[in-house]
Amino acid sequence: LSGENNNLSASDKEIEKALRPLSFDDFTGQYKIVENLKIFVLAAKKRNEPLDHVLLHGPPGLGKTTLSYIIANELEAGIKITSGPVLDKPSDLAGLLTNLEEGDVLFIDEIHRLNPIVEEYLYSAMEDFRIDIMLDSGPNARSVQISLSPFTLIGATTRSGLLTSPLRARFGINSRLEYYDAKLLTDIVTRSAGILKTPIDDVAAYEIARRSRGTPRISNMLLRRTRDFAEIKGNGTINMDIAKIALNALDVDENGLDEMDNRILMTIIEKFNGGPVGLSTIATACSEEAETIEEVYEPFLIQEGYLKRTARGRMATELAYKHLKIKPNTKGGT
Ligand code: ADP
Repeated sequence: LSGENNNLSASDKEIEKALRPLSFDDFTGQYKIVENLKIFVLAAKKRNEPLDHVLLHGPPGLGKTTLSYIIANELEAGIKITSGPVLDKPSDLAGLLTNLEEGDVLFIDEIHRLNPIVEEYLYSAMEDFRIDIMLDSGPNARSVQISLSPFTLIGATTRSGLLTSPLRARFGINSRLEYYDAKLLTDIVTRSAGILKTPIDDVAAYEIARRSRGTPRISNMLLRRTRDFAEIKGNGTINMDIAKIALNALDVDENGLDEMDNRILMTIIEKFNGGPVGLSTIATACSEEAETIEEVYEPFLIQEGYLKRTARGRMATELAYKHLKIKPNTKGGT
């Protein structure tokens, strides 16, 4: 339930594609970002210039990829998709860049994970729409300048803090996506159920929404799984009873925390007396990558008030104790 989508089955991937909004007006929430992007896109089109480079940051599953497709759509431009870790060598980047047509969008996911050498090539590409490629080595080495069609780079990252400042400075538009509230997610669940032709009661849509960790990708995933329960255990309609059965079976608790959320809180409380405890220690104790905890779990737990970050490490809050029905041990140590 982590909000990562790399363990989806092929049919889930197809469905996820079908559920993806295609225009700004189809995209729910993030109103301020969307309103601004609409203006920037219109202005760029009017001037017949490429849109300024865009940096989208925020936790996984909030719509960064979706927005990038929408931007390309609204620009009536093509889009090429890649990701930081995939661009291994400068020639990988050069190959992509030289294939772009005027005004196209190049989307680089996980842009904070670019190889530094590749990143350096990106600077002149972004700034002057040209790249200097070294041919040969030793005494024959010479650099050739290749000019590129003007394009728009959209970078997405879960960790904007890891971006180097020269890279960050080259984005004219910089937007941070926020978690969605239950009302917005209810609209997304209802829209998705409509596309999937699955009847759903309003209260059930709200129940799925409020237990989705503020994340549309998780709402859609829970909807798909709940639909399975409705088809096998019910009459195909998602009502409150079916939603509750499905969510409990999927280990999503009453407050929408999933198994790993609870494991993290439980570990901090039971093994480290509520903290403060360092991230890597928590990660080892929970058998999860520190990076995943920091990018996926922690931002939500902090926003919801279950976890605090202090200079000395992470601490469970009073709310975390209450949630897990554990009495705080005020004396410290056990
Ligand atoms: P990210 O790139 O931030 O990880 P995605 O753009 O891949 O997230 O979004 C994950 C899924 O959630 C998409 O399949 C999309 O259908 C859905 N989604 C995201 N944001 C919205 C939104 N605002 N409205 C409707 N669906 C959304």
